[in-house]
Amino acid sequence: MTHRISIDTAEIAFDCTSGQSVLDAALLAGIELPYSCRKGVCGSCAGSLAAGQVTGINGAAIRNDACTSGQVLYCMCTPVADVVLRPTSWKRLDPSARKTFTARVFSNELAAPDVSVLRLRLPAGQRARFQAGQYLQVLLDDGSTRSYSMANPPQESDGVTLHIRHVPGGRFSAQVAQLVPGDTLQVELPFGQVALRADDARPIVFVAGGTGFAPVKSILDDMLKRRVKRPATLIWGAREANGLYLRPAVERWQKQWPDFRFIPALSDGPVDSVTGAFTGRVDQALRANFTALSGHVVYCCGSPMMVSAVRSAAAEAGLAPDDFHADVFVPGPSAQPA
Ligand SMILES: Cc1cc2nc3c(=O)[nH]c(=O)nc-3n(C[C@H](O)[C@H](O)[C@H](O)COP(=O)(O)OP(=O)(O)OC[C@H]3O[C@@H](n4cnc5c(N)ncnc54)[C@H](O)[C@@H]3O)c2cc1C
Repeated sequence: MTHRISIDTAEIAFDCTSGQSVLDAALLAGIELPYSCRKGVCGSCAGSLAAGQVTGINGAAIRNDACTSGQVLYCMCTPVADVVLRPTSWKRLDPSARKTFTARVFSNELAAPDVSVLRLRLPAGQRARFQAGQYLQVLLDDGSTRSYSMANPPQESDGVTLHIRHVPGGRFSAQVAQLVPGDTLQVELPFGQVALRADDARPIVFVAGGTGFAPVKSILDDMLKRRVKRPATLIWGAREANGLYLRPAVERWQKQWPDFRFIPALSDGPVDSVTGAFTGRVDQALRANFTALSGHVVYCCGSPMMVSAVRSAAAEAGLAPDDFHADVFVPGPSAQPA
């Protein structure tokens, strides 16, 4: 059975079959709604219904703690009647914007015992067009894909740099350390919507867990290159000091950016080797350093559990729900549109 979905106050309508997610139907119709994980975890696709009814696909929950009153997760619901959506934003997809490349490994360095910094070059004359904070997908030979955030700023467009944590037993990430210069990977980019607005001057707090640092690095390098110097704090957490694997980049921002503050957070390890480190998790560091967050924007990136804890801490400190932006590193193969 098919239902008609339209977007409130826009002359846009498309079909959605029973069992298909509202988000997938929109993407297939060339309409990009905000989304990231497509698995009901990150909350990026939360939006309202102006009319109609939806239900969870295969009984899935259609709300999580990212949803404000009346919102549902468009990635988890399917219509049971014609529906009018009121998304937080939408745009028409540009079919020529996303490209697949055969990228060549340029360098592969171990930045921490379990983190590879992988630099890929695109074929001569090709450019990677993306916005700071977006991610790419590596296409594996079984047809599945893995998502990785670009860590370089978009101005460095002849290649991409990825920070990949080696997940024990992971099909792709556990093999990454063995890639050598000249090896090739199929990559498609860009994916993801960057929620940070260029015209917003409010102080911004970045909260990163482990390789959640990658998109933050891209955004901060991009801000510096564009001379956007709004007040910024980075809370970067790891279990031990060597998990904060790219300190020279942070030291550069500290030197060049008077309004930049760095709060390292170490949950397990001895803190002596990292000056001024907070002992505890990043959500605890956020609570300890920011008692009032209204008038701020928070951008958080890392595992689902960490993002959820930071979201709660930010809400308790008075952050408006719309000012919390998250990229969640959901484990496992990335879901594709049905
Ligand atoms: C939008 C997005 C951006 C991402 N960006 C990055 C990035 O910049 N850097 C990065 O390192 N990762 C990133 N990830 C995670 C990445 O896509 C993979 O999921 C991860 O590398 C594991 O892939 P794999 O093939 O090695 O493991 P799989 O073979 O897919 O999984 C093997 C096993 O490990 C578990 N597992 C998978 N990932 C994790 C994890 N992170 N923690 C604990 N257990 C896990 C799985 O549940 C499974 O049981 C991102 C994910 C998303 C959705």
